[in-house]
Amino acid sequence: MNGPAILVGQGPLAALVAGVFAALGCSAAEAGRIASRLVGANLRGHDSHGVVRVPRYARMLRDGLLVPDVTVEVTGGNGVVLLIDGRYGFGQSVGEQAVDIGIEAASRHGVAVTALRNSGHLGRIGDWAERAAAAGLVSIHMVNVRGSLLVAPFGGIDRRMSTSPFCAGVPGSGDEEPIILDMATSVVAEGKALVALKGGKPLPDDAMVSGAGEVSGDPGHLYGPVAEGDYPDPSRGPGALRTFGEHKGSGLNFLMEVMAGALTGSGCAGALDEPRRRSCNGMFSLYLSPEALVGTDPFLAEVRSYVAFLKSSRPVKPGGEVLIPGEPERRMLARRSNDGLPLPPEVRADLAATARDAGVDRETIEAFVQAAG
Ligand code: NAD
Repeated sequence: MNGPAILVGQGPLAALVAGVFAALGCSAAEAGRIASRLVGANLRGHDSHGVVRVPRYARMLRDGLLVPDVTVEVTGGNGVVLLIDGRYGFGQSVGEQAVDIGIEAASRHGVAVTALRNSGHLGRIGDWAERAAAAGLVSIHMVNVRGSLLVAPFGGIDRRMSTSPFCAGVPGSGDEEPIILDMATSVVAEGKALVALKGGKPLPDDAMVSGAGEVSGDPGHLYGPVAEGDYPDPSRGPGALRTFGEHKGSGLNFLMEVMAGALTGSGCAGALDEPRRRSCNGMFSLYLSPEALVGTDPFLAEVRSYVAFLKSSRPVKPGGEVLIPGEPERRMLARRSNDGLPLPPEVRADLAATARDAGVDRETIEAFVQAAG
């Protein structure tokens, strides 16, 4: 199903998504949280981590692989280092609870480490760094996906890794925005391959390796042939995603598996003794209060001065500019909040079908269908 993306207002889209998860058994509060975080990812330009995920989350909830309304459990640690079990709850809820535990501990001790295991998909990791930055904390988040084999290591064809994002946040002061670096360690996140497969933005030419070892931009290498009406399954293709930055990105991806998979106890992407592990996110997070180090004001002043220095670099392209991490997302947020969110036809159709299957009321579905043309 091809055709142009249509701009949809965030209101009817969020109402539809919340309707799906409420109809499938989540509390109204959790359904609203899932909707606002997914739509929030679309608003910031990360369509890969937005509403395109709804059919997959719905299927996992139905299959018992995701559990509604989970309260996380602190299973170990010493108040500064905290082991947290996400108990297979929705990442949108589990992530929020885990980050709040980290914020609380770092606000008290100046530093905290949280090791989150067994979390549902944590979505756009920048959400969590933004939450810590809003509390005045610098944070680093290393994430892996146990059970997800999507990425080939440098020099290999066979999948041995997940897309394992690295994220860091630095608070702004007053009305300044935080600085958020948030990146998959693959050339693109898997969801971007899904978006490309569904007629959205094409992939870079070096994003994939085919089953024969050729470098390619074709998302089909990840999914293989998809039958009409089937949801594309990224475990079925003969090829793999590639890590960014050749051997360097591959090394960083390996570190994500060690920190978020092995050190949290969540488990790495795979292992030789098991064919396929149950899917979940692990997240290792470090929270730091600048007050406990150089002091908040001197820290923020130095960062502000460095940002101005960095941005003063002459642009490569006439009329271009140097951006800092997080700036593209903020600009997109302003634009899409105003203009609406572009949804390709297949994503619109998938959302409406998922809502009908879940038993969402006719009014909510109609409002979405009207808004989405
Ligand atoms: P991306 O390549 O679009 O951006 C990566 C980073 O580079 C961002 O911090 C962005 O602000 C910055 N950036 C982009 N363009 C820039 C420019 N011109 N100048 C300066 N900085 C710039 O992001 P991605 O790697 O495709 O990741 C997409 C999302 O996928 C992220 O939100 C990530 O957390 C998420 N993700 C989640 C999981 C999971 O399991 N939960 C797995 C993989 C990825």
